[in-house]
Amino acid sequence: MTPPVSLLDLTREQLADLLAGWGQPCFRADQVWDWLYRKLAAEPGEMTNLPKELRERLAAETRCSPLERIYEQRSGDGQTLKWLFRLPDGLTIETVLMLYDDVTGAGRERRTVCISTQAGCAMGCVFCATGQAGLARNLTAGEIVAQVLAAARWLANSESANGESANQRISYQLSAISHLTNIVVMGMGEPMANYDRTWAALRTITDPDAFGLGARHITVSTVGLPQGIRKMATEPLQINLAVSLHAPNDALRSKLLPVNQRYPIAEVMLAIREYIAATNRRVTFEYAMMAGINDTPELAVELAALLRPLRSPTGGMMCHVNLIPLNPVAESPYQPSTPQAAARFQQILEQGGIPSTVRMRRGIDIDAGCGQLRRRVGDGTERR
Ligand code: SAH
Ligand code: SF4
Repeated sequence: MTPPVSLLDLTREQLADLLAGWGQPCFRADQVWDWLYRKLAAEPGEMTNLPKELRERLAAETRCSPLERIYEQRSGDGQTLKWLFRLPDGLTIETVLMLYDDVTGAGRERRTVCISTQAGCAMGCVFCATGQAGLARNLTAGEIVAQVLAAARWLANSESANGESANQRISYQLSAISHLTNIVVMGMGEPMANYDRTWAALRTITDPDAFGLGARHITVSTVGLPQGIRKMATEPLQINLAVSLHAPNDALRSKLLPVNQRYPIAEVMLAIREYIAATNRRVTFEYAMMAGINDTPELAVELAALLRPLRSPTGGMMCHVNLIPLNPVAESPYQPSTPQAAARFQQILEQGGIPSTVRMRRGIDIDAGCGQLRRRVGDGTERR
């Protein structure tokens, strides 16, 4: 039997070709596209303006979403949801939805989804649950987009729910916003190692005729693959770049991130300088703070010196450091820094002229760190 066609993996032209091959008029492709990406249809049965026979053929021969949700966790405060999805070949990936309410009244309410680009990861960072398991395979563009659509659908349902919807229990917490506002490509996998599919997905996500989210609301995080950073600098989409640094010198960084042996800090920084020169965009550095490992005052001084040259011609700092206390992974020797150590580190960066923020990891109580849910649930056979 031929496997079903994955609709989210088709370009608009490919979808038009498929439907034309079925003898459908041209406008059907526009209708299906609209159902998939704007009306967030989960199955052809929902596509009510299509003829019944077409809906039936779509249901028989295609697939709207490659994701089957097999596990869900919510943080105690209901503000972070984590899903484990099974892919058609049985592999599992994680997606996290974070709800940030507007406590200041300054219009900062956000609905952010954190998406995966690979099943597993080949980079082997020692503190990362995903890195410990190795790479199974790259996700397809459709599998990446599907995570965004699943989160958008969840949000839309949580607002409109009037009955006994599962989402309703926390819908009282969702005030004004029932749509996604931000995407962070910070789930499982290294996006620059699956570059073409990741960017194909981002093009669909930002296409005004498809999902239509502004590129400036999207951040791609990389372990620091220079060729990926350079390629990103040439993309017309103004997507934000975050680089996982975690250490200011090669000796320490190579211990924590083995990929540093291949691409040492100087090479990564060179690519970042080129990126800034080409795009004039600020870069975020991620720094997972590990007690006694990378959080000493000496390393803060070294980090400030490393980043100080990243200035625009007018003198503004073109970077920002996110200090994130490590999310501890079971059976790992690495522990999060104390709040005092993080504060001291930040103070030294500030004295060195480097802007930074200490961020709390969201959803600590639900294993919301990269790759942790999959590790706990195992191969995904346990259902809830
Ligand atoms: N592969 C990419 C994107 C996915 S990881 C990258 O490495 O940037 C997203 C972020 O989570 C990275 O900054 C990564 O270093 C960080 N991370 C991984 N495991 C973590 C943990 N246990 N605690 C805190 N941050 C972690
Ligand atoms: Fe891969 Fe990123 Fe985890 Fe490193 S931190 S192993 S690059 S997912």
